[in-house]
Amino acid sequence: MQPHKQIDTEVVIIGAGPAGCSASIYLAKFGISHVIIEKETYPRDKVCGDALSGKVVNQLKKLNPEWINELNDFSDTYTPSWGVLFSAPDGNEIGIPFKHKPSEAEHSPGFISKRIDFDCWLFQKLDTNFAEVLQNTEVKDVIIHKDGVEVICDECIINAKIILSAEGTRALVAKKYLNYTLEKQHHCAGLRAYYNGVTGLDEQGFIELHFVKESLPGYFWVFPLPNGQANVGIGMLSEYVSKNKVNLKKLMLEVLESPKFKDRFKDAKLQNKILGWGLPLGSKKNRPISGERFLLAGDAASVIDPFTGEGIGNAMFTGKWASEQVRDSLVSNNFSANELRKYDKTVYKKIGGELRVSTVMQRLIKYPWLFNWMIRKIKRNPELRETITFMFDDVDLRKKFTSPLFYLRVLFK
Ligand SMILES: Cc1cc2nc3c(=O)[nH]c(=O)nc-3n(C[C@H](O)[C@H](O)[C@H](O)COP(=O)(O)OP(=O)(O)OC[C@H]3O[C@@H](n4cnc5c(N)ncnc54)[C@H](O)[C@@H]3O)c2cc1C
Repeated sequence: MQPHKQIDTEVVIIGAGPAGCSASIYLAKFGISHVIIEKETYPRDKVCGDALSGKVVNQLKKLNPEWINELNDFSDTYTPSWGVLFSAPDGNEIGIPFKHKPSEAEHSPGFISKRIDFDCWLFQKLDTNFAEVLQNTEVKDVIIHKDGVEVICDECIINAKIILSAEGTRALVAKKYLNYTLEKQHHCAGLRAYYNGVTGLDEQGFIELHFVKESLPGYFWVFPLPNGQANVGIGMLSEYVSKNKVNLKKLMLEVLESPKFKDRFKDAKLQNKILGWGLPLGSKKNRPISGERFLLAGDAASVIDPFTGEGIGNAMFTGKWASEQVRDSLVSNNFSANELRKYDKTVYKKIGGELRVSTVMQRLIKYPWLFNWMIRKIKRNPELRETITFMFDDVDLRKKFTSPLFYLRVLFK
């Protein structure tokens, strides 16, 4: 047997998805040497709806304001997205623009891009002056000692002071050191399919979220991609899927055959296999996301928005906050669980409120009549539509959804 190659470094990042890459780019900005390990080889696919929200765009701008112009130029792989269309179980629809004044925007507030393209593009932004990048290298085990960590792969062992686990769902570090198990009430099952030839796609790249009666208590989506393609999928709480033995693939194909979508998918061709993957939702309040000498970011930390299924933005944000905590811990030479808990506090202070709002909204889907009523009201009321647009523009305004006053206003308008 070949002896393991030994690598010594300050920090090890496991996983080079959006969380790991954004953490690595920030560590490089702070001048911190590190190793980032990815089990796949780029370009690699990731099952996703491929919608890059305003949060992702904001993060990219913070990483480098020039990068957003690159996305704008890649019309072959990126669809600019200007809004979202919701449809209610009774068939009523509303379109809500992401921007209050689209004419004044330099670029679209969101984008849709296959993850095989977006993740690879972001991966290429890693700064190899500070990051030693190991692709096609799977972490097999992690050992945390009092005075350091060992990360074990087939051909190498990396010794470092701290681990940033950005491994996505089913993270090894979380399982081993925080006893994470899949909690079906905080987890969603999702399917993704690429189709060609779907008709009726919005010209301004509005993403479509359909809360149709066939898909409840989950939702069905159609997101427009360049060259007449669309990302089509369905998501549903795992607890419901397993209790009711739902066959998600069969259900999705039934939705495509339903009167609402039959014509739009009449000539559509499935491009490759329908694939499934899990979404670890951020609906469990204050779940621990660090411990002695390790931090979790992105899906490893379960921070996906429970209502929309959006996780790339929070993956990038937690990658950033985790890298800031790593920087501070290196300065103070303090990697204790107590010190690293500051990272948990930052995360929940910044996004805990919005995760709770989305959890409430996710639970409201169980009451289709309420959803129908809300959509009807919003449709009839331009002022309310405008308020919701402002909410997309400013995440803090989403808190309004939890306020009883907001519902009273809706009721009496
Ligand atoms: C069906 C579906 C639809 C979705 N739709 C959307 C959407 O439209 N918009 C949105 O914002 N979010 C969406 N999400 C959520 C989004 O995909 C995730 O939140 C996001 O990918 C999280 O990024 P991450 O970097 O944490 O994890 P990942 O993107 O999963 O990256 C983790 C990386 O770690 C690597 N890795 C794992 N284990 C190891 C190991 N042992 N050693 C080395 N490397 C390892 C993996 O290969 C991977 O590259 C969707 C998810 C699903 C399943």
